[in-house]
Amino acid sequence: MIFVSEPKIGKDEIKEVLKSINDNWISGEGKIVSKFETKIANLTNRKYAVSVSNGSVALDLAIRSLKLKKGDEVICSTLSIISISAAIYRSGLKIVPVDCDMRTFNINVDQIEKNITKKTKAILVSHTYGLPCEMNKIIKIAKKYKLGILEDAAEMHGQYYNKKPCGSFGKISTLSFYANKHITTGEGGMILTNNYGIYKYCLNYKNLCMKKNQRFRHDDLGWNYRMSSILCALGLGQIKNLRKNLTHKINIGNHYNNLLKNNKYINLPIHKTDYATNNYWVYPIVINNNSNKTSKQLANFLVRKKIQTRPFFWPVHLQPVYLKKGMFKNKVLKNSEYLSKKGLYIPCGFTTSKSQVEYVCKMINNFFE
Ligand SMILES: *Cc1c(COP(=O)(O)O)cnc(C)c1O
Repeated sequence: MIFVSEPKIGKDEIKEVLKSINDNWISGEGKIVSKFETKIANLTNRKYAVSVSNGSVALDLAIRSLKLKKGDEVICSTLSIISISAAIYRSGLKIVPVDCDMRTFNINVDQIEKNITKKTKAILVSHTYGLPCEMNKIIKIAKKYKLGILEDAAEMHGQYYNKKPCGSFGKISTLSFYANKHITTGEGGMILTNNYGIYKYCLNYKNLCMKKNQRFRHDDLGWNYRMSSILCALGLGQIKNLRKNLTHKINIGNHYNNLLKNNKYINLPIHKTDYATNNYWVYPIVINNNSNKTSKQLANFLVRKKIQTRPFFWPVHLQPVYLKKGMFKNKVLKNSEYLSKKGLYIPCGFTTSKSQVEYVCKMINNFFE
């Protein structure tokens, strides 16, 4: 089977992990954790970084740290991972899903303003599949209406928007180090901020609200969201290989672009915009109006050829869990609905080879002929 992505663990990673074990540093405390946090903060131009157990709880803590009131509204893209809307919902806030752009898959900035009400307090931007959101336009809107920006940069390690690193935008940014991310520790996450209050809040709540001086007396209830030193060590090894790994993915993306550009039935991702070059976190393709086939049919065909694919995110406003609660009644967000039926992504990882790309393209072209 050719997988959509596989982690790439080499000598650097193994050396760091063995060192953490040999040095007897394995818990979620200590110098290795601090070192990993500092490296990630430097990479994203942030003052503070707080490691946590995954990207989903990073979002949970990030939203809670804003201390919004019950019923306040948070805008997000409807084409995003469930972790985002779940974090908004579980904090007692109202999810306001906005449609995405057909070509970049990011939030459609032209649709943001008409979704702003008196209760809107924040925009949660999530850069999707390889290109960052149009941050300048989003920052302008946020300033005009005095909204906070939260940035989910889980798919953007090492990516830039106009020379500014992703992970550096807004009040708080979050990262994931899940196995398919550009820096992986298997499971893991990070919260990034320049705000000391937010930093302290996250440190406290990720560690059971333990007090320094009276360790087992608690003023509040937190969680154990700590990330272990062994995983942070793995992350230190991954950081060393980030540039090399990203270059490989961009090469794979370009190879697909060349081999699929004459296929008139599919739209390919945009390689470059005026604010960024695609990092091909995944290689998404969308079946266009020249074919009435669905992405499910294409996926079923490809899996028989031993090629793994993944569907696009299912839109937030169509999630059964929210519909059951009576939310998003009669909401229609056309682009995301089209993409969820017609889009999928194909193998594009650190271990994907050029000959695998050639085989995948041949099979995709066969499907449509
Ligand atoms: C992977 C991902 C997450 C979730 O991270 P986990 O570490 O798997 O919890 C959140 N947001 C985005 C955009 C992601 O791609």
